Amino acid sequence: KKRLAVMTSGGDSPGMCAAVRAVVRAGLFFDCEVFGCYEGYSGLVQGGDLLKPMAWEDVRGWLSLGGTLIGTARCLEFKERAGRLLAARNMILRGIDALIVCGGDGSLTGADLFRAEWPSLLEELIKTGKLTEEQANPYKTLTIVGMVGSIDNDMAMTDNTIGAYSSLERICEMVDYIDTTAASHSRAFVVEVMGRHCGWLAIMAGVCCGADYVFVPEQPPSASGWKDELKKVCLRHRKRGRRKTTVIVAEGAIDDSLQPITSEQVKDTLVELGLDTRVTTLGHVQRGGSAVAFDRLLATMQGVEAVKAVLESTPNTPSPMIGIQENQIVRIPLVEAVSQTKAVAKCIEKKDFAGAFNLRDAAFQE
Ligand code: ATP
Repeated sequence: KKRLAVMTSGGDSPGMCAAVRAVVRAGLFFDCEVFGCYEGYSGLVQGGDLLKPMAWEDVRGWLSLGGTLIGTARCLEFKERAGRLLAARNMILRGIDALIVCGGDGSLTGADLFRAEWPSLLEELIKTGKLTEEQANPYKTLTIVGMVGSIDNDMAMTDNTIGAYSSLERICEMVDYIDTTAASHSRAFVVEVMGRHCGWLAIMAGVCCGADYVFVPEQPPSASGWKDELKKVCLRHRKRGRRKTTVIVAEGAIDDSLQPITSEQVKDTLVELGLDTRVTTLGHVQRGGSAVAFDRLLATMQGVEAVKAVLESTPNTPSPMIGIQENQIVRIPLVEAVSQTKAVAKCIEKKDFAGAFNLRDAAFQE
């Protein structure tokens, strides 16, 4: 029987539980044995109770849950070869030679490197007497499949990541709450949202909440002109009778000289207009709560596809990342998706903002 392990790694996102559930149940359906790897890569490195078989009923009720019930962690040991040696040994002792990782670009990069290094790890384990040839020989190759769990929707080559729509929903609810009090007092609110270097959450929240203005990293405004432009737009809206002002600032917002645009700077600018202005930093409420229907669906379809990808993989297939493009669940070469994701950051560093914008997926550009 094929034995595979499933793990969540990096920052948590709503829908990760649904992804694990789908992998466990699809795995069992396709007659595999499925191991849960707890606490991200720490589960592989430490083994023991952190790497154990999962049964159908172990994931009962997980479909709608937020966060991840198998835990996630930043595991520094796995970044060192010594940690990866321990991980490979723990896997082989349990007969596991396939790993489905639901995480961000760091986690997926780590997984692909682990696969590339696998033969040399086994060689070293045999040489140092940590494994016998008989133990290692049946597991000459490691299969890796990636799924993207992230509220930021920052991975290239896939339209959506698991958790992004749940986070967007949370942001919209919060801004709706703020809106009622803002309109009552005729106030301005600056709402800072997560997303790291990606402006997807901010742009989508801006559209969904009818914000006056949105600041995102991919289309930075002019360093010398953004304050006047912001004032002009907000004033125009007020003159049309709007009783509130809502400005969404992505946490990675910058101007065109790459200087951060902070919520406090935006607030000070609105105060200069004479507006009673407050800042709300939404923080971790954006990551919490249950998964919205779209994330449950995405996680479930991708989990099933991930198991199929494991069963169909050959030593020559590049590690796939399961994505969604124009409503189709697809397999994308993981390395390409990660390198395109990194290319966005490089474009921004070089002030090639049009390039950064073009590298974002279609949903973002629309
Ligand atoms: P998020 O987007 O939420 O930050 P991420 O997967 O990018 O998620 P990271 O902190 O970059 O988060 O990575 C999570 C874990 O993956 C690390 O703690 C480490 O265990 C492993 N990892 C990341 N990069 C590598 C790498 N280059 N080599 C080996 N392991 C890695």
